[in-house]
Amino acid sequence: MTFENMTLTEIESWLREKDPARLELLWAAADGARKAHVGEAVHLRGLIEVSSHCCRLCGYCGLRADNHGLERYRMTRDEILNCAREAREFGYGTVVMQAGEDYGLTREFIADIIRAIKEETGLAVTLSLGERPDEDFIAWRAAGADRYLLRFETSDPRLYAMIHPPGPGRTMSDRLAMLERLRGFGYEIGSGVMVGIPGQSYGMLARDIDTFRNMDLDMIGVGPYISHPATPLGSEETGEGASPTLLPGEQVPNSELMTYKTVALTRLARPDANIPSTTALATLNLAQGRELGLQRGANIVMPNLTPPEYRKLYEIYPAKACIAETGRECHTCMGARIRCLGRELGRGPGGRKRQG
Ligand code: SAH
Repeated sequence: MTFENMTLTEIESWLREKDPARLELLWAAADGARKAHVGEAVHLRGLIEVSSHCCRLCGYCGLRADNHGLERYRMTRDEILNCAREAREFGYGTVVMQAGEDYGLTREFIADIIRAIKEETGLAVTLSLGERPDEDFIAWRAAGADRYLLRFETSDPRLYAMIHPPGPGRTMSDRLAMLERLRGFGYEIGSGVMVGIPGQSYGMLARDIDTFRNMDLDMIGVGPYISHPATPLGSEETGEGASPTLLPGEQVPNSELMTYKTVALTRLARPDANIPSTTALATLNLAQGRELGLQRGANIVMPNLTPPEYRKLYEIYPAKACIAETGRECHTCMGARIRCLGRELGRGPGGRKRQG
């Protein structure tokens, strides 16, 4: 079996692979591709969860507008800048500002913060603020933002329509088209999917990986879907075989193992992309999830800089890993974990190193 130019059928059969000896071959191939294309450095992106307000009704996400049980917050300019200062002090190359789709974060407010972070720290700035108008994307790029993250969540149009209803007064969104526009505005672009969404088949997940291969993505984040009881999808059962819409044996489990397979196949599909080992993976296995992700294709981690009083309220899914820690605690823990693996801490902004 060669890992280059895998067909959709081959990708799907790796996703279904159960033999531990064969899976060792997959992990080794992904780790080898990671080493050859992006090297030993693990880049650290300091995550700032700037607001939990959201106007959308995504079927999977605990921040959805009608979750009235959730206390909402929006960080102030000073609070966000303090996190960016910490990122610089800890030696990170990038800060990531993420939030629900919150129009209380106005175009001007975000542009002003980007300028201040750039001026004071010189760090690379990544945004993950949802589906905003092009005018916002253009203004933020002009203010100095470098990268934009927008997961397409699933490449299957019917599943997407089921889990991702349009925003107020809008038509169904096309995140793939939005990513292409973002690239046109000069951003490095990142996307990704959740693994094990209720209704997601093996064929759909194989096509997600094929979509990564066909789009020239700079960053690709994949993590397990984690059920949230305050969402419509949260009432559906997850796990192998459980799906009201799929034939038996077709539902992708939202498991740790399936996430590693997806990370590994993603690395093989796009060898030079930046791929994080996600917090959602650490949520399934706090002791080892991040490490195993880094040994099976990933080269990025995102230590959380959000102040503890806010991070517990940024509940996209329940029981998120490390919600009580401070930024400094996350920093120390992550550094130790990376050194234990014998990998280096990345230096500099850690943007995409294009090959060929
Ligand atoms: N509002 C922004 C940021 C969303 S949070 C946006 O929509 O792009 C970032 C990511 O968290 C989402 O893209 C989604 O893939 C993931 N996420 C949300 N709910 C989740 C859940 N229940 N389980 C696992 N991942 C989830």
